[in-house]
Amino acid sequence: MNPEPVHTDIAVVGAGPAGLSAAVAAAVAGASVTVIDAYSQPGGQYFRQPNPAVDPDPQEPRPRAGRELRHKAEAAGVRFLNRTVVWGAFEDLRLAAYREDTAQAIELQADAIILAPGTYERVAAFPGWTLPGVITTGAAQTLLKEQRLLPGQRIILAGTGPLQLVTAAALVKAGAQVVAVLEGASPGEAILRQPGQTLAAVWGQSTRLKEGWQSWRTLKKAGVPYHRGWGIIAAEGKDSLQAVRIARLDRQWRPIPGTERRLEADTLCLNYGFTPATELAQLFGVQLHWRPAQGGFVPRRDEQMQTNVPGLFIVGDGAGVGGAELAMVEGQIAGLAAARQVLGDSTLTRRIEALQPALRREQRFQQFYARLFTPGPGLDELAAGDTPICRCEGVSKATIVQTIHAGADTMHAVKAVTRCGMGNCQGRVCGPLVAAILAQETGQSPERVGQFRARTPIFPVPLTAFTVLTTEGAESAESRN
Ligand SMILES: Cc1cc2nc3c(=O)[nH]c(=O)nc-3n(C[C@H](O)[C@H](O)[C@H](O)COP(=O)(O)OP(=O)(O)OC[C@H]3O[C@@H](n4cnc5c(N)ncnc54)[C@H](O)[C@@H]3O)c2cc1C
Repeated sequence: MNPEPVHTDIAVVGAGPAGLSAAVAAAVAGASVTVIDAYSQPGGQYFRQPNPAVDPDPQEPRPRAGRELRHKAEAAGVRFLNRTVVWGAFEDLRLAAYREDTAQAIELQADAIILAPGTYERVAAFPGWTLPGVITTGAAQTLLKEQRLLPGQRIILAGTGPLQLVTAAALVKAGAQVVAVLEGASPGEAILRQPGQTLAAVWGQSTRLKEGWQSWRTLKKAGVPYHRGWGIIAAEGKDSLQAVRIARLDRQWRPIPGTERRLEADTLCLNYGFTPATELAQLFGVQLHWRPAQGGFVPRRDEQMQTNVPGLFIVGDGAGVGGAELAMVEGQIAGLAAARQVLGDSTLTRRIEALQPALRREQRFQQFYARLFTPGPGLDELAAGDTPICRCEGVSKATIVQTIHAGADTMHAVKAVTRCGMGNCQGRVCGPLVAAILAQETGQSPERVGQFRARTPIFPVPLTAFTVLTTEGAESAESRN
């Protein structure tokens, strides 16, 4: 069965702040727009909506703002395909998707595509990191925001960046006992070293500063210790997490001998930044370049967010980690630029230009933020030989190191020999960990090491999802694999 592809002027993948903003801008300009998202409700990470069965009328500002944006999109005629995962990308701007609730295979063909797929959380591998009870900070936030559930009773958060702070404050407000928050970086030092740049970067960022300040005050009032320059070195427990070992870190994020302490906890939340989701970009043949301050490999784009593939735009955190505000400005620019291209409406140029000051302001903040919260190399040295690196396929650090020493000196070779990255997560979790080991063991730069190549299907889908592929689609999928 090869039904005709559904045609839309502009297809947007991802209904987070970037995708929703792009969709509204393009639809208001007159284009027909279809937004596809794997989640059950539009909003992405930032505007994540609670489960309606748990909280049908959430009053927090973010879900409300997300709903308003969605209503604007609906009023402008945007069509939403929720619970629909895009698993393949083919020539002539075609997408293969699978709708989970109706078990429907969909092929979408568009005159322009805007990818807004967001990021994955970066974790660290250390002894005990795969114990039940060790989760990502984003997972804790999702449980709380979506299901109104606490991940545990005694919680420690560790990593870097303001997500630790805001999540810890939200957990405290929801009644959890937060044992400690460990921030690996020492942001105060960087701020004091460059006061002028700090001022320029935070100018116009009052909402963010207020949110940070309120979270900080919540933790202070609850007596939660917030340790800067501290990190996890191991997690302990028999069947699940019982305690964590922590230490003060030097500037390279290496534990300082003699500072080690043990804290009891049943939940450890980790977040060491984010990695942009570039799989669909890779399948389309987009050129990527190495930008560690933006999360790793990111697509090359022009000023209107268009890639080297004509008609393909990429916006938001999936194009480089920059936060929700930057994602929304980029989304608007790409939405207008795609609509201008599809509709041939040059009057949209002025509106694109009017967004440039906001774009520059948010980019300045992104650069400042990256300087404060980038993990040092010590983070990648915590794993012991028997520490699992690829948890889907059960591959330890020692196996990876032996494989590299036996001659596998590329990501592809390590994957082929060990099966690292071939499991359910397709390397989204272990990819950065394997890349760091490969760089350490071979002396290659992270840029040269690269990342696992994306392959179709980028997410596990039932075989029925493939029934949508035309012969050409199947051939181009095969030739890419
Ligand atoms: C776990 C997590 C927690 C965060 N918490 C905070 C916070 O508390 N405060 C804060 O200021 N910032 C937070 N951020 C950062 C902020 O959410 C992002 O900067 C912002 O959401 C970026 O918007 P975006 O539209 O680029 O991506 P996202 O909001 O991540 O949206 C991406 C969307 O794309 C969809 N998608 C991706 N791939 C596919 C596919 N193949 N098929 C179908 N759909 C797909 C996803 O389902 C998702 O809805 C968080 C980020 C993450 C990842």
